[in-house]
Formats: sequence, C-alpha cells, structure tokens
Amino acid sequence: MAKRVYLFGKGITEGNGGQRNLLGGKGAGLAEMAKRGFNVPPGFTITTEVCTAYYANKRKMPAGLNEDVKKAVATIEKHTGKQFGGHKNPLLVAVRSGARESMPGMMDTILNLGLNDTTVEVLKAKSNNGRFAYDSYRRFIQMYSGVVLHIERANENQHDPFEVIIEEARNKRGFKHDNQLPEEDLKSIIEKFKKLVLEKTGKPFPSDPYKQLEGAIGAVFASWMNDRAILYRRKYKIPEEWGTAVNVQSMVFGNMGDSSGTGVAFTRNPATGENEFYGEFLVNAQGEDVVAGIRTPLKISAMATTPNLEHCYKELCDVRKHLEKEFGDMQDFEFTIENAKLYMLQTRNGKRTARAYVKIARDMVNQKLMTPEHAIESADPEALEQLLAPVFQKESYQKAINANLLITKGLPAGPGAATGTLAFTAEKAERWATHGPVVLARVETSPEDLRGMLAAKGIVTAKGGVSSHAAVVARQMGKVCVVGASEIDINYNTGVLTCGDKSIKEGEFISINGSTGEVLNGKIDTAPSELIQVLIDKTMAPKDSELFTEYDFVMKLADKYRKLGIRTNADQPEQAINAVAFGAEGIGLCRTEHMFFKGDRIDYVREMIIFAAEYAEYKSKLAQRPGDAVLLENEYHIPIMHFKQALEKLLPIQQEDFEGLFNAMGERPVTVRYLDPPLHEFLPQNKDQIEDLSRKLNVPFERVSQTVHSLHESNPMLGHRGCRLGIVYPEISEMQSRALFRAALAVAAKNKKSPKPEIMIPLVGFERELELQLELVNRVAKEEFAAAKRVLEYKVGTMIEIPRAAILAEQIAKHAQFFSFGTNDLTQTTLGMSRDDAGHFLPFYEKEAGIVKSNPFATLDQIGVGKLMEIAVQGGRKTRPDIKLGICGEHGGDPASIEFCNGLGLSYVSCSPFRVPVARIAAAKSAVKEMLAATATKPTAKKATAKKATKAVKSVKAKVKVKKTVKNVRKK
Ligand code: PEP
Ligand code: MG
Repeated sequence: MAKRVYLFGKGITEGNGGQRNLLGGKGAGLAEMAKRGFNVPPGFTITTEVCTAYYANKRKMPAGLNEDVKKAVATIEKHTGKQFGGHKNPLLVAVRSGARESMPGMMDTILNLGLNDTTVEVLKAKSNNGRFAYDSYRRFIQMYSGVVLHIERANENQHDPFEVIIEEARNKRGFKHDNQLPEEDLKSIIEKFKKLVLEKTGKPFPSDPYKQLEGAIGAVFASWMNDRAILYRRKYKIPEEWGTAVNVQSMVFGNMGDSSGTGVAFTRNPATGENEFYGEFLVNAQGEDVVAGIRTPLKISAMATTPNLEHCYKELCDVRKHLEKEFGDMQDFEFTIENAKLYMLQTRNGKRTARAYVKIARDMVNQKLMTPEHAIESADPEALEQLLAPVFQKESYQKAINANLLITKGLPAGPGAATGTLAFTAEKAERWATHGPVVLARVETSPEDLRGMLAAKGIVTAKGGVSSHAAVVARQMGKVCVVGASEIDINYNTGVLTCGDKSIKEGEFISINGSTGEVLNGKIDTAPSELIQVLIDKTMAPKDSELFTEYDFVMKLADKYRKLGIRTNADQPEQAINAVAFGAEGIGLCRTEHMFFKGDRIDYVREMIIFAAEYAEYKSKLAQRPGDAVLLENEYHIPIMHFKQALEKLLPIQQEDFEGLFNAMGERPVTVRYLDPPLHEFLPQNKDQIEDLSRKLNVPFERVSQTVHSLHESNPMLGHRGCRLGIVYPEISEMQSRALFRAALAVAAKNKKSPKPEIMIPLVGFERELELQLELVNRVAKEEFAAAKRVLEYKVGTMIEIPRAAILAEQIAKHAQFFSFGTNDLTQTTLGMSRDDAGHFLPFYEKEAGIVKSNPFATLDQIGVGKLMEIAVQGGRKTRPDIKLGICGEHGGDPASIEFCNGLGLSYVSCSPFRVPVARIAAAKSAVKEMLAATATKPTAKKATAKKATKAVKSVKAKVKVKKTVKNVRKK
C-alpha cells in the first residue's frame, strides 16, 4: 500500500519540495525547508491520495490510517520529548489543510489540538502563564467547534456565537481587546463555550486528543468540498480530483507573552513587486490573528525596534535572503516566535498581482535568483489582463481631491482604480453587479464573502492588514483592493459608511485606489493603464514607463520559449494595429461579415439578399432551358439588376476594407474568412426597418417583408450559412475574391511589400464544397493577376468546424493548404449544443450537476472536441505533411486550451487583440512545462537557483534552440 504519512522536521524528513502533488504545497514546502536547515517545528503530512480515497469511500477514512497517524505522533513525541495528551509535557498540534495550489482561507485549520481540562493545567504550570494556557484552550474549543462540530453563525450579518460570549466578557469589563481579559474571565468563557457545545450537539466537548485529532483530520478533508472551496476551485480551474493533504504539526506559541509573536511575510512586495521586505506581525498572538484581519498588525520593519524581538528581525532578514536563494522565487512565509526563538511554519511561492509578477520576474532573473524558465512557468497568463486595468483619470481625480472627496487612506492591497456602487454584503454585491460596477465594503472579509468579491470591481475593508484574507484573495483575483481603512465605520444595520463627518450610503458611488489606498466619495472617471498609453494610445514613451519595460522583458522572454505562433481575430485596421502592438504575428481570422455593418454598406448587402433567391431561381431555370435566355432575362430583369448592382457596389468597399487590413499588417499573414452567417441576420426585423428598406430599394413593402419571412430558419446555426452561401451564390465568393486580390495587388504596388492573403472557407463538411470554392478562388486570382500583370503568393484553406470535416480531414486536406479550427462551431456541432442557447442550461450543468467542469464554449472540451481536433491533425498531416494548422475559435485566447493546442503541435493560436499578451505567455508557459516534463528534472533541481543552473536546465535551453528552428519552420 502506498505510503500515506510523511514525517518532516530536523533529521526525520521523508518528503521533499518536488512532491507537491502528493504532499500539497504546504507539506512539500515544510519538507523542503526542514531539509534545507530552516527551523521547522516537526510534524507529518497525510497525503492527498488519502483525501481522494476518503471521497471515493463515501467520506470514510481508509482502514489503517489511524494506526499510521499514531505511529507518526509517536515519532514526533520522541523528537520533541513531549507526549500527546501527556500530563507532564503535553504535545499540542496544529492541523491544517494544504492543497497542491494554495487556496487561501478556503479550507479549515485547527490550532492547539490536544488541549483538555488536564493538559491545559500542565500548560499553565509549564509556561507559568495561566492567561496564555486558557486563551489557547478557548481558541481551540472555538475553532474545533466551528470546523468539526459546525457550531457557526447563522448568516453573514450575525455574529459567531462564541464571539458573542467573548464580547460580553469584554464589555463587562469595558475592554477593547481580547488580550486584556484576565485568566479568570478566560476560565469562565471556556465553561460557557463547553456549555454551548453541549447545548448545540447534545454531547460534551471531546477531551481525548486522539479523538480530537481524528475529528480534525476528517473535517479538514471534508472542507475540500465546502462551498467556498468549490467556488474558488471553479474560479481558478483547480481540479477537484487533486484533493488536499493534511498537515499535523507540533505547536509553537506566538502568544506566550511579549517576547513571542507571529507573522506573515513576503520576500518582496506582492502588490508592486518592489524588492522590499514586506509583511506584518503581531506581538503575543497566534497565526490566525494575522490572516483573519481581526487585529491590524504592525509592519514587519517595526520589529527592528520592538523590545525583545530586535534580534529576531535580523534573523528574519537573513531568512528572507536565504529563502529566495534556496527556492528561486519570491516567497510568502509564515513564522512564529516563541519566547524569542524563530520558527518557520510555511513557505511557498508568493501569490502576486500581475504588476508584481512582471517586476519580480525581470528583477530576479537579472539578479540570477530565478531561472528564466521559472519566470515563465510561474506566470498566471489570465492575470496579465490586470495590467491593462484602468487607473483614475487625472482631471477627474484632481477634481475629487479639490472637492474634498478624499475620505481616508487605507493600505493598498490590490492595484488599479475602481469606482462603483457601494454594497455592504456579498449578496448585494452579487445582485447589484448585474446592473453596473460595485465596490464591496466590509469590516473585514471572511471566506463567505468570496461571491461578493468575485462580483465586485473593488473591495475595501476597515480592518485587516496587507496579508488579510481580503488582500490575499483580491490580489489573486486581480481586484482593486484597499484594506485596513481603520478610520471608516461600516454600519451594516443602517447601511452607512462613515468617516469623521463624511458618509456614503449603500447604493451611492464610492471610488477606491488599490495602488495608493485612497478611498473617495463619489464617482471618479478612470483612464487607461500605462501599457495602453504606451502601446495603443501612444501617449507615453516606452522608456517613461517602468511597467512597460518590465512587461516587455517578460514578453520577449516568453517569445524565446513559445512554439505556437500568435495571431489575432481582427476585421478592422485599428484592431489589427492594436493586436500587432500587443505582439500578434498575423491575422488568424477576419470575419468579413463584420465589415458589412459599417456605414450604408448594410443597405447594399440587404439589397443583394432580398434578390438572391430569385436570382438563384433564374440561374437554375437558365441551366435547364438555355434556349430561353432572353426570355428569362426579361422575366427576371429586376432581381438580376438588383443582385448584380449590389455586388458591384460592395466590391470596391470590400476592396478598401481589405486594403486597410493589408496596410496594417504589412507582410504578416492575413486570413480572410468568406461570408459565414445566415443571411437573415443581415435583414431588418421590425416594420419600420422593413419600410425604410423598401423605400431605399424602391420595392414594395410586401415584397421585402415576404423575403424577410421566407429567409427565416428554425435552426439558423445549422442552416444556410458558411460555405453553403458561396456554393449556392458563387457570385458572393467571387466578389469577395476579386476584392481581396485587387486589394492585395494595390497595396503591393503602393508599399513595395507583398501582403500575404490566406483565404479561409468556412463550415466545410464535404470535400466537394471546398473543391468548388477553391476552383473559383483560383480562377479569380488568375484573372486579377493577369489584369495587373503581377502574381502574388496566397493560400487557400478551410476551417474545421464540423465533425464531418474533422473525421474526413485526410480528403479535405487535398484541397486545403491550411486548417484553422473554428472551435466555436466545432464545440456547438460536436456537443449538439447551440452556442446561442446553451447559456440557459450550461450553468446548471457546470455548477449544480457537475456534468461539465467548465463552460466548453470558453475552455476547450479536450476529450471530446479535442479528440476530433487530434483526428483532423493526423488526417491533415497524412495528406499534406506541411499543412499549416491553427485555431481561431474563442478558445484561442484561453490558457488551458492554448496548452492543449501546444500539445497538438498547432502552428498558431488566434485570439482577440487584447488577449494577445495572455496568449503569448500561455503559449510560452505550455512550451516550458512540456520541456521541463520531457527533461524530467530531479524534484529539487527545479528549485535550484539560477546561478546553480543544473545540467537539466542547460539541456532545456539547448532544446529551446532546436524548437525555435521548428517554430520558424512552422510559422512559414
Ligand atoms: C468558430 O466557429 O470557431 C469561428 C471562429 O467562427 P465563428 O465564431 O465566426 O462562427
Ligand atoms: Mg464558425
């Protein structure tokens, strides 16, 4: 049977930092720290496999686990010289969750386990501190009762029943803080707690430490499936199958008096990336006090001048340096000082904002503290969109300041500017966010507020420090956040936020700046981020923006590693220019129908459509009765005239549009997709619009109205669209081809650069469809080249967006120089779910029934739709080994789908212009991941410093060179 329990501590460590999957992030970090000589209180980790077995076994612990746990406890007893439940020197433990990816505050923790009426007395005698002993005991009962016995507050506006008892005691004495309560008060609080437990559960509070431990381990495993953990996993795409590990660790006490304390620190600033020691601590407190945001802690630098703790600050500064060197990344660590001795409780790669990510990556790679591979591997591609987030617009901000609207300044915890309606509860934030931006304000946030935080544009709290729950979670979500705005009073009952003589009611506007901590009354306009100002608006010089130089460093690094080309979906020159500024290497999809909506061209399109059916009828009759040509021409002269005239008018307009794109893209490839949507989408729908069109075309109202109705389709997505339009009305494809070649020739003549058109035929399912369209395109190309006396290179390919095309890719590839996966339609047709209507039931499938893990229209259904893609890739390459393969559905900008496409060996992904940076990083990240997996480095090698780059990393670099060559070939 696989090993289920891994010890850690000086000289007894069994695991290592490479075992994240098995030991969870915390367990692996503790094992690695202990191995590398940091002072870690000993303990053991119960593996994530036990969690998986627990759920597979209908929430029952696997047989024999208790025995394994007892054995491990015995080792810890030996190691520490303490006994679990012992009457002389009792061992107390902390029980914590620890998933592969950290999920801050989402699962449960229990401290001081092992205390009961007897051991508490020993603890009192040993520590010579009754207050400390009883305070530890009351904390334990409170935590255990909440987590294991489920005695909790009824809703978010009610107080924790245990806190009510404490508050009563405080009020009785007129104290402000818990730590002012004397020993006898704590004793009576404990009695009241025990009475509450008996009342609520019908059983006394458990006193046997092993029973306590069994309950705690079960509760931590169970917390993997609590609502907030599920919600968090969904948001961050953490697979449910991973499960959590449980860490049982001997307790050290930060609440032993004034030479004790506890804190959380980052080796660099996680909000800005500044290379500064960043963190906070509380004297005479336990770890949870810092994270919970109940007491506002002190800045870590204040420890340098805190009596009894000065030397610990020095030690911590060494630890800070040592950690970065050993772990090769910015670390987020927890420590406790017990009687002036420093203990490390946890370390992990720190979560950071996108702003901090680019700065830390650039700085640490330059300082040779981080490998370039890790800089890419540790990116959160999705979060990069934060860099494009707005800031306050200067004038609007100044006006607010002049008008004295600045209410207060809290701690900046999540950068960016947000303005929105003030909401006090998660429920309101969620509800109101459907009508406009919301800013959630709470005294302090707890994991129950997660829903509201997700919905809000910004979060502000009155209490808590920069590593409080609100700060950690907001930073990760990329939300604007201000914490510890201690001057404000948030009154949940009256719905008013007050600060001195200023107040804002719920429902009114509030503005916050998460980069400075400012909280302002009213609405302040926002302005684009520096990146937008440099890259898009060009209102700022690159050298003037620190953010831009860091971003640029990371992007260039990413480009070294990625194998996938990055293209964009753009149909307007401005979009194309923006995308190129973000790093796009070509257009992967120009939806030509989008060009038809501009100006009065929609009228010509409508004219063409209104007469298309009659024109087709005329052609069909002509084919059957060629002898009646004159007769038929007379009979159909009105539709013939309108249809042809509309196309003639559209031709130069389309040509001009294409010229705009070719000009914007230079010699980069431009993939133009021929008309795709069902024709009725272009037609007027209401009476006034129909009337208007009939007037413009000088055709009776009934006539237009009748065509509109006749073109109605029950399933337009499966109807007369895609290449089916070009097959039935080849004149449309002919017009588009002529416009395209004329545009390419005109731009080539003017710019002395050859545009690279790639013509893409949509919705092909039959080989013959593509063959017919290909013949037409090639004929028009020949005619246009002959007229211009110049030949240009071009490609013709198809979208693979219906299953038949994927299955028969081998045949289809005979006529296609490239395939581009239209995964929007491919998902729709493979799943048999309309992309327009699936929204009605997909949320239920995802959130309630758990049938799909994520929305398949956003993240590729890899095992279903992905399977068809695999078949198409194989089929296409069989016929045409050098076939170019891309993706242009929405999935082309989704990191998980990009990783899949990287694995398939596609040549490029194409996404919307503003997703290009995300796609660049995601493509690089998947390539690095693939390389590192292939080189199968030793578990600890990954953690090696950049200076000590292992052979493995060097060989990875050699591979990059080879892959670059492959990429260059693919890009052609
Ligand atoms: C697709 O189907 O994936 C695609 C890109 O085409 P459209 O969304 O225009 O149908
Ligand atoms: Mg499509």
